[in-house]
Amino acid sequence: MSVFRPIPATRDGTSSPVGSRRERNSRDGTVRGGELTGNLHSVETFGTLDGPGIRFVMFFQGCHLRCLYCQNRDTWEVGDGRSVTIDQMMEEIRAVRSFLDRSGGGITASGGDPILQARFVGALFEAAKREGINTALDTSGLTVITPAVERLIEVTDLILLDIKHVDDKRHRELTGRPNRLVLEFARWLDKLGKRTWIRHVVVPGFTTDATSAQMTGEFLSNLSNLERVELLRYHEMGKHKWISLGKRYPLEGTPVPSRAQLEYVQAIFARYGVAAAISG
Ligand code: SF4
Repeated sequence: MSVFRPIPATRDGTSSPVGSRRERNSRDGTVRGGELTGNLHSVETFGTLDGPGIRFVMFFQGCHLRCLYCQNRDTWEVGDGRSVTIDQMMEEIRAVRSFLDRSGGGITASGGDPILQARFVGALFEAAKREGINTALDTSGLTVITPAVERLIEVTDLILLDIKHVDDKRHRELTGRPNRLVLEFARWLDKLGKRTWIRHVVVPGFTTDATSAQMTGEFLSNLSNLERVELLRYHEMGKHKWISLGKRYPLEGTPVPSRAQLEYVQAIFARYGVAAAISG
């Protein structure tokens, strides 16, 4: 997911929607006429929330999680979106390169979950690295560590990893999927010494209680590669996307957490030596 916010659905100079054509897509990318392609939902040209500096953020189509609070319900289907090549993406990136450089920024692959298209994103990041462009990957971490994922991580400067819930049962309730692969992925990044920022959404009824916060705080305290931990406030700004797709918003009526609830989670993390910032 991208930082906990809806991706804009219309072009307004800072984001661009993509066509809705459907194309078969493999787990890692599609080969079209011998050329590797990715499936993109949209891009944000001047993002400021997904990594350092100004970022060219690419929202890739497809996600394997089914988060109850998903702000971008329209990114779930892997086969939807615009089919793009590495050259096309690099051309768009080069057009804004000077802004990215001046701000100490770079490019970020978000989604959806870009790790579903690891082969394409890895090749894109490799091309970006050849030109000295900083790369960040915003992922849920629900993945098997394939050679394509290994290659992608090698050419990624910064990982933005979402930890939804450390308790497997609660994770399944919240996202529809077990968390084993996510936690393994986090430990693997730690072993690699990969620079990582953690994002954790604070949702009343799911992650505001002491046990949940203790489990998460303890898990994070065992990772030595974390540069930043952020607590994101739950909100329902993406609810309209569920409705426009004819779906019922699952967390209808769930309140936005109070400042006190966020600080409560923050204080529990601190007991485990994890300094978390409150954002959103
Ligand atoms: S990880 Fe969850 S919040 Fe992010 S896009 Fe997937 S379902 Fe939505």
